[in-house]
Amino acid sequence: MNLTWERVSLRTRRPFVIARWGYAGHENVIVTITDDDGVSGMGEAAPNRYYGESPDTVVAALERYKPIIESAQSWSLEATDVALTTALRGNASARAAVSSAMHDLHARKAGLPLHKLWGLSADASPLSSFTIAIDDVEGLRRRVSDAAEYPILKIKLGTDRDEEIVRTVRDAAPDKVLRVDANAAWSPQQAIERAAMLRDNGVESLEQPVAAADVEGMRFVRERCGLPVIADESCLVAADVPRLAGSCDAINIKLAKCGSLREAIRLVHVARAHNLGVMAGCMIETSLGISAIAQIAPLLDTADFDGAALLAEDPFEGVTIADGRVGLVDSPGLGVTRRRSA
Ligand SMILES: [Mg+2]
Repeated sequence: MNLTWERVSLRTRRPFVIARWGYAGHENVIVTITDDDGVSGMGEAAPNRYYGESPDTVVAALERYKPIIESAQSWSLEATDVALTTALRGNASARAAVSSAMHDLHARKAGLPLHKLWGLSADASPLSSFTIAIDDVEGLRRRVSDAAEYPILKIKLGTDRDEEIVRTVRDAAPDKVLRVDANAAWSPQQAIERAAMLRDNGVESLEQPVAAADVEGMRFVRERCGLPVIADESCLVAADVPRLAGSCDAINIKLAKCGSLREAIRLVHVARAHNLGVMAGCMIETSLGISAIAQIAPLLDTADFDGAALLAEDPFEGVTIADGRVGLVDSPGLGVTRRRSA
């Protein structure tokens, strides 16, 4: 087996601003694994500096992982996951890219879409939301109009204008389902102060109101805010779930946090065992990365798979998110191809 990679420059259609930072462009890393029969699988690393990763750390991790992949079997998915984590901990997005490529390769060899190999029916997938990043009033209206086809909007908050942002989006989208994500920006008290305004505007759920490590603060908010609370930055891997039970209503799974498709599925089941709802999301990434996480869509309650839809140009074609519906591709592996123009 052979492991290669390439960096890809990505630009969002509009600047993407959340409570922590904003950007219009960055780099992800595309991984290709080819076996001795010449069959290939691909995966994407979407490094996030909040989790200590960059394109450079991804490439450095892939250098370490290369000899492990070279001696791996195309079907030894579990053992490879363990070997990567043992060789170099952390580096979740780099490991996720390798995991996605291995699963793509394995399912291509089996001649089945990955979700079908797992026994999952694409029809069971929930609708995906579309993210409204932080902006001024005019910008928010433009973003809502960009998202005309999406029935569910996820609003980024964590500013001193949160009420204005929510009212502007609600005014522009009176009939849509609204969810909000504070990206860990509020204190527990601030979250409670904003909760009535969120409920007045028909907001359906509140994602990561408080700092990632403040599990007690999240419990305080959950008990008083009158909205379901979803843990994102607080929940990286399956081992995080037990201590979050009782402090949130659901968790948000991302490959760039958990490090592999296998860990993503473990997160689903550990969350279910603790009576938690399950959502999955993404970073800013191409249709390759989205097609990988979307393979677990039939196991989810809610999905936030708009990462590729936010891009100015997407170098890959795969899962589609038309009208919010997650369209898994019925071709082997992740069902991803390179766009001809790319
Ligand atoms: Mg989030």
